[in-house]
Amino acid sequence: MTTRTTRPVIAGNWKMHHGPRATADFFAAFRNASEPRDDRTVVFFPPAISISGAVAAVQGRPDLLLGVQNIYWESKGAFTGEISAGMAAEAGVRFVLCGHSERRHVFGESNDDVGRKAAAAFAAGLTPVICVGETLDERRAGRLEEVLDAQIDAALEPLDADRAGAAFLAYEPVWAIGTGVNATPDDAAAAHAHLRARLRDRIAQLADQVPILYGGSVKPDNAADLLAADGVDGVLVGGASLDAAGFARIVAAGT
Ligand code: PEP
Repeated sequence: MTTRTTRPVIAGNWKMHHGPRATADFFAAFRNASEPRDDRTVVFFPPAISISGAVAAVQGRPDLLLGVQNIYWESKGAFTGEISAGMAAEAGVRFVLCGHSERRHVFGESNDDVGRKAAAAFAAGLTPVICVGETLDERRAGRLEEVLDAQIDAALEPLDADRAGAAFLAYEPVWAIGTGVNATPDDAAAAHAHLRARLRDRIAQLADQVPILYGGSVKPDNAADLLAADGVDGVLVGGASLDAAGFARIVAAGT
């Protein structure tokens, strides 16, 4: 049973969707569909090219927070196509996804890369949302806990205990991302309990302040059940975060 009492985090990862025009349209609709509320933390992860438009679009709505989907760990240099944590912070975001499964599986990011990115995020004043999760083959082979441990240990390795305790975690089983097949609330609760225990082994009571989000085919119709699962402190939503009305339903789920 989790002892955490902080409000649920509802995060939307837009992936490679919503350029600057669509971003303005989204926020115009979302601001109408979802009133400010103090019982939820709402974070959007638009593509980097849309961040400045998103910053402008959330003016006057301090309840709507922003993050980037990825950073590189160096602060500047000859790294064509990359952005640094400092640049993201300067642009006005507060969060960064580190180690999303598409970064790991499409772009070959290693567990150690994720740790470097988490450290770079903190150095720039950003909060990393460290994503972990197993493939279907790994789950079927009984390797769930081993895979999660390797991912979380590498991600936290470069961080001191205070920083590790200030990170966010997202449990995103690869087989549930973009497939329409979500983990059951019981599956999510079991994985979250394991992650919480592993965090406690590493950073003792500081572990209890780390929100652990569930991600993987969260929709307006299943969000309330997943948010009610033991140890689930929020949801990280991909496809269903692209529609303003639908995402507003997820923000309101279970309330
Ligand atoms: C994600 O992109 O983090 C995600 C969970 O995607 P989806 O909700 O579409 O499965």
